[in-house]
Amino acid sequence: MKKIVFATNNAHKLQELREIVGDKFQILSLNDIDCHDDIPETQPTIEGNAEQKARFIKDKYGYDCFSDDTCLEIDAFGGEPGVYSARYAGDGHDSEANMKKVLTKLEGVPMEKRTARFRTAVALILNGEFHIFDGRVEGHILTAKQGDSGFGYDPIFQPDEADGRSFAQMSADEKNAISHRGRAVKKLVQFLCK
Ligand code: IMP
Repeated sequence: MKKIVFATNNAHKLQELREIVGDKFQILSLNDIDCHDDIPETQPTIEGNAEQKARFIKDKYGYDCFSDDTCLEIDAFGGEPGVYSARYAGDGHDSEANMKKVLTKLEGVPMEKRTARFRTAVALILNGEFHIFDGRVEGHILTAKQGDSGFGYDPIFQPDEADGRSFAQMSADEKNAISHRGRAVKKLVQFLCK
């Protein structure tokens, strides 16, 4: 079976991919290849960061590889936090602090001006070729947190395609069906399994 590295140690993401891809590829994590590097993510775009991570693995470890990177873009902030989504409120990668910063900056802004989107880029290096897949979901930033499943900005993001619930009020399957990452991964899997 052909081996391919998913540049993550996120158990949830790995299991999901392994289930979808079945026995066509053996999906290895960073731990599986003994990679404990602090992989650089220094590019100004999510596409650049996803590519940088995938190329790092290919160059240093020799494996074909794919890597994902996600951002939240809030129109009232000119697209911020963007590539800084994980560390918007500081280097701690603290989701509560990040959400608090967004809610405070948006205080008094009416719902129609709270438009935002999540975007994911997945970069793939396979058989010497580079490919990129994207996914996005449009929505609004709520005025307060709603729900407690999911992670990151889920409690304050309400996708337009759903029924008024935030991502944090949906099951994992409901979220994956319309989410930025779900859509990008679907394109990746269609490509890998064609
Ligand atoms: P990453 O590239 O997947 O690490 O995502 C960067 C940051 O975006 C994360 O640290 C989260 O704060 C946020 N983020 C990514 N995906 C999601 C999501 O599905 N829901 C909410 N926040 C997310």
